Amino acid sequence: MTAAVSTNLPVPARALAIGAHPDDIEFQCGATLAKWAAAGCEVHHLVCTDGSKGSWDPDDDLARLVAARQDEQRDAARALGATGEVVFLGWPDGELEAGVQQRWQVAHWIRRLRPDVVVGHDPWKRYRLHPDHRAAGFLTVDGVVAARDPHFFPEQAIAHHRPSALLLFEADEPDHVEDVTGYADTKIAALERHVSQLRSTMFIEPDDDGTQQARFHTWVRDRLAEAGADAGVAEGERFKLIDRL
Ligand SMILES: [Zn+2]
Repeated sequence: MTAAVSTNLPVPARALAIGAHPDDIEFQCGATLAKWAAAGCEVHHLVCTDGSKGSWDPDDDLARLVAARQDEQRDAARALGATGEVVFLGWPDGELEAGVQQRWQVAHWIRRLRPDVVVGHDPWKRYRLHPDHRAAGFLTVDGVVAARDPHFFPEQAIAHHRPSALLLFEADEPDHVEDVTGYADTKIAALERHVSQLRSTMFIEPDDDGTQQARFHTWVRDRLAEAGADAGVAEGERFKLIDRL
């Protein structure tokens, strides 16, 4: 893994995390958001899809699943200590496109919430299969570009806004680590608020006697330790930092 060249941005006054699905944000940057929230940052979530593919049960009631996942995402944000908005764009899971209509929405929310730091998927991560993660990454980058310049989408009638930094998670070439030592428990607690995903993304079966849950906790802590090692800290989350916006 690439050695980190920078650590710890100044705590932003406002941060906006953009994820393809409910739970992506907690998986990829939950501890960083928890750290910032604890230091007084207003943390906002924007989720691009409705999460309607997030079930292994072919007979699942998808309207119920979508509603449950929104509730879970709001609970998870609160578990991180986030006090900001939790926005759902509601595009069908698995079919997210990085089109102008979606970019319009992302730029609108960036202008409305005025984050100092935007956090999202790296659209240039090689060999990643999930199309929504690629699309959400392009929407993050393209949304920042549209939001910062006044002649993009002037009909929005909101002042343009230029964040000071963009952090891309699942990064192809990570070069930045946030030291999140002490925030593993908060990240895990927030992840476990995504109750409908315990089976499919955390591999915890309903009849688990605690063994699978413990294995999941170890997996999360191991990832944090691995990323932390890049920066010589106990626990970290890795990103590609783009700060010339
Ligand atoms: Zn996802």
